[in-house]
This record gives sequence, structure tokens and C-alpha cells, in this order.
Amino acid sequence: MIRMGVKFQDYYEILGVKREATEKEIKSAYRKLARKWHPDLHPGEKKAEAEEKIKKINEAYEVLSDQEKRKKYDRLGANWQSGQDFSPPPDMDGVHYYSPAEGMGGFSNFFEMLFGGMQHGFGDKQGPFRAAPRRGADVETELVLTLEEAYQGAEKTFRLDMQAACQQCGGSGIRGQSFCSACGGTGQHSTPRTLTVKVPPGTREGSKIRLRNQGGAAPGGQAGDLYLKIRLSPHAYFTVKGDDLEAELSVAPWQAALGAKVPARTLDGSVAVTVPPHSTAGKKLRLRGKGLSQKEGGLGDLYLKIVIDLPGQLLPEEIELYRQLSQIRPS
Ligand SMILES: [Zn+2]
Repeated sequence: MIRMGVKFQDYYEILGVKREATEKEIKSAYRKLARKWHPDLHPGEKKAEAEEKIKKINEAYEVLSDQEKRKKYDRLGANWQSGQDFSPPPDMDGVHYYSPAEGMGGFSNFFEMLFGGMQHGFGDKQGPFRAAPRRGADVETELVLTLEEAYQGAEKTFRLDMQAACQQCGGSGIRGQSFCSACGGTGQHSTPRTLTVKVPPGTREGSKIRLRNQGGAAPGGQAGDLYLKIRLSPHAYFTVKGDDLEAELSVAPWQAALGAKVPARTLDGSVAVTVPPHSTAGKKLRLRGKGLSQKEGGLGDLYLKIVIDLPGQLLPEEIELYRQLSQIRPS
């Protein structure tokens, strides 16, 4: 996933040179630092620190001494801070290298992300470049569903703007000595795609649906996966509370006083609910198993909160009866 912990590396800062530094200045700075931090000169407890330093210095030099790599790195702009959490423009070069750990001898995740596809280690500088497995980046996006769609399952068609590496420059944004005109130097094209997904019944807020190979493209490799993170749009009647649902149940004053059977809406359709005698406002009635599907396979409940309301219009006889009621219990 793109979301692994990648920290921005300020290669200019590591070598202690300006962004405008010439090749010569970079080389000279590198040589000085490489001599200074040579692990052999730092025995004992300082050795690990020196190895860490030299690894960063080597990596910085690897990028800044290589014209193509330096250009690509410079494209990120000058506003990045060393150690800042970094995620590249989506599918920056169509190639993504999985490197869960920054082990000794390897390059940083940041380097792998930018220049993935080659890898060699400290102490192995003469060794051949090994091709890394090529695979497009995994992409995550949100899919908004109604509560009913998520509960019952649905087939959804949606449009998605996918970033794909520019074919003209291979995603580098550079052609020859200038910016690629096809993509304006961004290295990518945005392509709208229409996708259809089957949402399984019982889908919940926050759950993820994976669409294999519908993620970032990889030239000459397999595309990454697309993850759809489910969001539920607010519902006019039901409120989701964990596995349970809550809703209001409107009853007339005499139904609340004497008890009644009243129709109530559930996600499975209408049911008749027994309102017990002397039901006060705010009392909750529980309908077992009328909530949402639980992970363990069970079902949550639906809680109906009693709201006592008058019908839109009262008949003259009803008004007369209320008058009598008010005389029994004057306020
Ligand atoms: Zn291009």
C-alpha cells in the first residue's frame, strides 16, 4: 500500500550542499562525508551510527549524482522537510516496490518508492542491479452507499479518475533536456474509468471491498488493487449505533396510554409493533434482530424511541374528550 511509513529524505541536506550545487560540488561533498563517516573509523558503539550515516550519504549521492534521478527528485519541489511523512503523487511512476523494513544495506522506503525497480546495497556497490518485482500501486477510495444498499447488497456503478503513468516519458515527466509536453512534466495522466462493483449484503461502514488489479497501472507489470472504503450516507429515519439501529416511533396519546399495535418501519419492511399500555415518551422498544449484520454472523437490534404526537387534525368529539380529561387532572 502507498500508506506505509515513508519519510521524506532531504538529500541536499544530507550532503550539506545547496539545491543548485554542481556535479563537482556534490562529488566533493560526498567524498568528504564518506571519509568522515567510514564505519572503520568509528569502532565500538559509534559504529552503528556511522553505518546509518553512510547509508544515507550513499543514498543521497546515488540520487544527486545521477542526472535522471536528480531531476525526478527535484520535481518533488523544495518545500519538503526531512523526515516528513511522504506519499508520492498517486502512482507516480507506475512502479511500486514493496519494502516493509528499512534493513541494513538497503535503501530507504522513500528511495524505493521514487526509484523502485532497482536495488543494491551498501557494501555491494559493484554488484549488478537486481530487478525488483514490478507491480502497480494499490489505490484506496471511498464509496458512498445508502443504508439500504449496504444492508441488502447492491450493484454500484461509479466513475473514478485514475492516475496513470505518462506513456511518452514513462512517468518521469522529463524528455530529453526538458519537461515532457504530453503530460506537462507531471509524469502522469488522469483517465476517467467507469467501474461496477457488487456490494455484498451486510456491508458495514468502514469495511473495504477489494477490486483486484483495478489499482495503479505498472508498465510491463501487474496493476495494483483498488480498495473501496464504504461510507454510509446519513439516513432520514434510521441512525446507526454500532450493530444496532435507532429510530423514532410516533404514537397517538391514547395508544401510548392504553397500548396498541402500530406499524413500524424496519430495513426488512414494515412490522406491527406492540406498544404496551402506559408507554411514556422516550421509552425504547427493542426489536430483536432488526439491526445490522454482525461480524460474528448475528444481527443487531432496532430500538424504537416512542414519540407521542397528535394526529394532524382532531375531530370535535376528540376535542370534547380532551376537555373532559383536562378537568380530571387540571394543571
Ligand atoms: Zn510525460
